[in-house]
Amino acid sequence: MLFKQKKALVISDFDGTICTVDVGNRVLSHFTKKSWDDLDREYVKGSIGSREAYGKIAPLMAVNPARLNAYVLKLAKIDPFFVKFYRLAKKRGVDVKIVSDGLDFYIRAIMEKHRLGEIEFFSNAVVFGEKDSLTFDFPQANPLCGRCGTCKNKILNDHRLLYEKIIYIGDGHSDICPSRCADMVFAKKVLLRKCEEEGTTPYQPFQNFGEIAKYLKDHF
Ligand SMILES: [Mg+2]
Repeated sequence: MLFKQKKALVISDFDGTICTVDVGNRVLSHFTKKSWDDLDREYVKGSIGSREAYGKIAPLMAVNPARLNAYVLKLAKIDPFFVKFYRLAKKRGVDVKIVSDGLDFYIRAIMEKHRLGEIEFFSNAVVFGEKDSLTFDFPQANPLCGRCGTCKNKILNDHRLLYEKIIYIGDGHSDICPSRCADMVFAKKVLLRKCEEEGTTPYQPFQNFGEIAKYLKDHF
């Protein structure tokens, strides 16, 4: 091999995982003029992907950057052990990246608020238009599939050869595909139920990043 692999990469979901609140869902609910519960049901059932759902929700939304910023900063709480986990990962030479099927605008605002802006993240993008209108952009979509706005599995596989071990952390529907390609998974909620059902990748249920910090301490 021409290059030396780094020892490990932690890839984490954002909403409901690093951030204890599902900010994306709250933002989309709070700033839409009409309900989109039917779209959410279709998404949970699997009959539409998030990319299609985002496309249908965008015209229902009305907000400007200042209001959105104020709303997310008031709402967001990050996992109480995340900073400790991140410091330890850095000390042990383990890289950390974020993948999210949520939106760049609030991920950036929340991470910067906690002085964690240096962590690389991959997500969908908000494009603000005139008179409180907006659209979404999908720089991390996978043209071969197209279901999710952000294909977390593609991002994981882009990093596959660079690391000996990839640890995946998540809680939701969009975390299922990448969890199947990781070496180790920490899971909550929907993702945990899927891991239990499939049992193909080693996994561990978790409540907070304190448990993941402990795992890094024991293994790296
Ligand atoms: Mg999530």
